[in-house]
Amino acid sequence: MTENTLHDVAIVGGGAAGLSAAVTLARSLRNVVVIDAGEPRNAQAEGVHNLLGREGIAPFELVALGRAEAEGYGARMLSDSVAEVRRDGENFTLTLAGGAKLRARRILLATGLHDELPDVPGVAELWGTHVLHCPYCHGWEVKGQSIGVLGTTPMAVHQVLLFRQLSEHVALFTHTMPELSDDDWDTLAALNVEVVSGRVAELRAKDGEIDAVVLDDGHEFDIDALTVAPRFVARSDIYEQLGGTLSENPMGSFIETDFAGKTDVDGVWAAGNVRDLGAAVAASAAQGSMTGGALNGDLIFEDATAAVAARKAA
Ligand SMILES: Cc1cc2nc3c(=O)[nH]c(=O)nc-3n(C[C@H](O)[C@H](O)[C@H](O)COP(=O)(O)OP(=O)(O)OC[C@H]3O[C@@H](n4cnc5c(N)ncnc54)[C@H](O)[C@@H]3O)c2cc1C
Repeated sequence: MTENTLHDVAIVGGGAAGLSAAVTLARSLRNVVVIDAGEPRNAQAEGVHNLLGREGIAPFELVALGRAEAEGYGARMLSDSVAEVRRDGENFTLTLAGGAKLRARRILLATGLHDELPDVPGVAELWGTHVLHCPYCHGWEVKGQSIGVLGTTPMAVHQVLLFRQLSEHVALFTHTMPELSDDDWDTLAALNVEVVSGRVAELRAKDGEIDAVVLDDGHEFDIDALTVAPRFVARSDIYEQLGGTLSENPMGSFIETDFAGKTDVDGVWAAGNVRDLGAAVAASAAQGSMTGGALNGDLIFEDATAAVAARKAA
């Protein structure tokens, strides 16, 4: 059954971006609902790093604090998943997986992204603990350790350099990456980076840690952490249902917006990883807050325009 309440904004996704937007909108006395499926991208990580004031906080503790802060200003929180969004005149109707139907004047997509991992057995199991991608998120935690870089894209040498800043023991597994250039070889040699040619067959785990990187030819290498380059794929089902199309860059696919977060689909806005594949938690929260403000401004303008028209017609 569809509720009668017409929310000003329905926020799909309650991670850093969605919850920050909810706080901004609720503090502007907007009738806002957040629907969240409860799977933030960093769920596997032990802590959130590079977050001023809350350094190292557990990912789900951060979400719980954000929910409480938004609720404190009157935002409504629903633990559910949005299955479908349809345009309904000037508004939208959202259908939740649990069956409820909600109405809203605007949609804010803060659904984050999916990390498409290299198809190597063992990588998915250790993702977020010993298989890493970002030197700023978890590099300090593996400083000085033996770090392998799984080469799948031309950016692997760049990743080597970033992790070489954190450890003298870095090895590049060339796996499926393109041929190294002469400049690459010079750089890797100068920095004492071991280059291991050949395909990686498996990342073998033991007791939740890396036991060995195993090559196709059976050779084994002992490392503590493996860095990979996932393809970042925006969680965009709803955007596509509404006629939106994704943009691509070398990192993956995303929803293009203007500076404030407005998409090409009328009434639909986006914040966080769904629109900015490189945004960490602080940047996603900042975008949520700014887009919340811009959405409030958009609604204010619409209401003021309607009030002027009504006054002239009276
Ligand atoms: C392993 C790992 C470790 C990381 N560590 C750090 C770190 O230490 N510091 C840092 O700054 N960044 C870190 N990051 C990056 C960080 O996770 C992201 O920057 C951040 O989560 C982006 O916030 P977001 O709100 O855009 O998306 P998310 O946090 O992913 O939140 C999106 C939410 O939307 C929900 N959702 C999706 N679709 C729907 C739907 N249809 N209906 C309802 N809900 C939906 C999801 O369930 C999820 O709860 C890490 C990433 C990874 C992969």
